[in-house]
Amino acid sequence: MSKFIFIAGGVMSGVGKGVACASIGKVLKSKGFKVTAIKIDPYINVDAGTMNPTEHGEVFVTDDGDETDQDLGNYERFLDINILSTNYMTTGRVYQSVIERERNLEYGGKCVEVVPHVPEEVINRIKKAAELAEADFTIIEIGGTVGEYQNILFLEAIRLLKNEIPKDVMTIMVSYLPIPSKVGEMKTKPTQTAVRSLNSAGIFPDFILCRADVPLDDVRKQKLATFCNISKENAISAPDVNNIYEIPINFDNEGLGDKILEMFGLVSKTNEMNDWRELIDKISKLEKKVKIGIAGKYFSVGEFTLSDSYISVIEAIKHASWHNNVLPELTWLDTEEYENFPDKLKELDGFDGIIVPGGFGSRGIEGKIMAIRYCRENNIPYLGLCYGMQCAVIEYARNVCGLEDANSEEINPNCKNPVIHIMDEQKQKLAEKDMGGSMRLGAYPCELLPDSRARDAYGTKEISERHRHRYEFNNAYRDIMTEKGMMLAGHSPDRKLVEIVEIPGHKFFIGSQFHPEFKSRPLKPHPLFREFIKAAIS
Ligand code: GLN
Repeated sequence: MSKFIFIAGGVMSGVGKGVACASIGKVLKSKGFKVTAIKIDPYINVDAGTMNPTEHGEVFVTDDGDETDQDLGNYERFLDINILSTNYMTTGRVYQSVIERERNLEYGGKCVEVVPHVPEEVINRIKKAAELAEADFTIIEIGGTVGEYQNILFLEAIRLLKNEIPKDVMTIMVSYLPIPSKVGEMKTKPTQTAVRSLNSAGIFPDFILCRADVPLDDVRKQKLATFCNISKENAISAPDVNNIYEIPINFDNEGLGDKILEMFGLVSKTNEMNDWRELIDKISKLEKKVKIGIAGKYFSVGEFTLSDSYISVIEAIKHASWHNNVLPELTWLDTEEYENFPDKLKELDGFDGIIVPGGFGSRGIEGKIMAIRYCRENNIPYLGLCYGMQCAVIEYARNVCGLEDANSEEINPNCKNPVIHIMDEQKQKLAEKDMGGSMRLGAYPCELLPDSRARDAYGTKEISERHRHRYEFNNAYRDIMTEKGMMLAGHSPDRKLVEIVEIPGHKFFIGSQFHPEFKSRPLKPHPLFREFIKAAIS
């Protein structure tokens, strides 16, 4: 039976709770245990697919086609496992199943109540995910911050499970300790208040992970011990780092893994973090840079630039760059500007490679197409991900095949040359406004053409990659596109769907209908990103 480690956040959001969960998991895995991780989002949304990425960050797609929180991406990258939809839940999803069960008379005539039936459903889901993964440890991240009204039922689930199996449940609070510039001292009071709030929900944390600009000193550790009812050794320092992949090493150096094992009465079976340590060491010595421009649109929020919407893309670029012994330097490109000021396109000469990531809707698309044309004509390495592949097809159709009004039906449903068109299955769903969870989602097999660059990169004929789209390459244009030199390098095994396009002879020009970024791992860079970066630095 699995041990359960709940992670709750105190003081404020955005301090890296997901990465902390993933790092704790990595440490435990390195000690010879099987680990899985679950994310609980307090939203009513049934999945993350209906949330705007600028508000909620990237929608991470699992192999089995769930649209989940970006933290599942962190879990996959740190733990090097594929996580399934059982490991993601939202308030909406939990209520949905309670209501369905009630409609099916599964509560045997009982009055179905928020407590205990909702937390019970949460616990059942947690146990099921743990069982399915055959995990020794199940780490459960509770979204939001303690004290918020929204996550109270999830805290209630921790309390109930702790009552049921006290020796197998642990709670860790990830808190933030500010150092106000005018005060110049690290303050523990917000953490004390957050812990008290957790206590009032009947939960007493076993550890406090102290996120801060700098490491925690002895005085602060003692204060937390005195006021938060933990032992001094269990106030764990978690200072800011340059590279998130250092965090498991820092935790291990603080003895967190062994302390967790000790509390559960277990001992470490092995210690296998050497490859990870070697990677971090190698990165710290890298000097040469590779300049990559990303032409997305979900990154500006008011005065701030957020990169959360493209986190898997960014991580995949990092993994591939480190593999190629360079440090990535990323720039966000606002392609809308190219539409009004085409001269600005020349800035692309300053990059070693350009990526157009996934996207929806028409804003900025013409600028993206202009950028892709510039890359194609000037031999600048280009990688198009989903929407980026579709834009590359439109560009080629217009400017090489002479189909001037070529477009995607998503942008112009009435265009004469819809080189990208709605998928058959999706047409019906769109008409019925069946939007949530209804795209072509999750992993599908794809076969690669023998003489394609993609085949070279992957080193195998059949691959499996994750998708999230409604539109696809229109097969009516296969002939003209290939006659004019575009290679349709990857297909679904029944050959009905084009999954990869390439331009042979170009330094690097590949577009994939799928999202390769979801499968990249720090020590196993994704083949397409690896080859893209290799071309970029050549
Ligand atoms: N909007 C496009 C589609 O739905 C591309 C989606 C994406 O980039 N994820 O097909």
